[in-house]
Amino acid sequence: MSGIYLHSVERDSFSNGPGQRLVLWTQGCSIGCPGCWNPETHDAGGTFVTKDQLIKDLLDSGCEGITFTGGEPFDQGESVIEVGNSARKLGYTSVAFSGYTYSTLVKKFGGDVLQNAFDVLLTDPYRKGKHYKSVADALGQKTLTFHSSIYAKEDFLKIPPFEIFIGTDGDVRTTGLAAPYKK
Ligand code: SF4
Repeated sequence: MSGIYLHSVERDSFSNGPGQRLVLWTQGCSIGCPGCWNPETHDAGGTFVTKDQLIKDLLDSGCEGITFTGGEPFDQGESVIEVGNSARKLGYTSVAFSGYTYSTLVKKFGGDVLQNAFDVLLTDPYRKGKHYKSVADALGQKTLTFHSSIYAKEDFLKIPPFEIFIGTDGDVRTTGLAAPYKK
């Protein structure tokens, strides 16, 4: 059964791509960028969620699209590509972040496969100690590759730099491209 090992999910995000998005933080990363500020996502494990359940979540979410981030989504590349493909076929947009370079992903998965599964890929490793001061600053550290005309860089520049979620248990989570620095 195909699916993705996840660290966490946000069903109502506006800071991880254009518009309202279902955001999947994948669990596991083999890249190990020095100074990564998400070390809790590096180890394998996480919660396995089937592709069918993820697509159902997307259909129920009211979102315009899905965003894959992590962890490293492309350490589970075949599954992430499968979900991205299904989402796009249903009319949703698909955006993925990666610590790999675009050329590495093309070599590993094939350009046509990536084009079919993702409207936009934001690639390249994290730079040690870099605190992104704005969305423009964060985007400046990534290579943006557009596979369709549905979004342009301007759409990414308009997204809020970060957002704060407060769970019913009082748990506070901050997400976004230029979230306040966590020491
Ligand atoms: S790819 Fe992402 S999660 Fe992995 S080490 Fe780099 S910044 Fe951290």
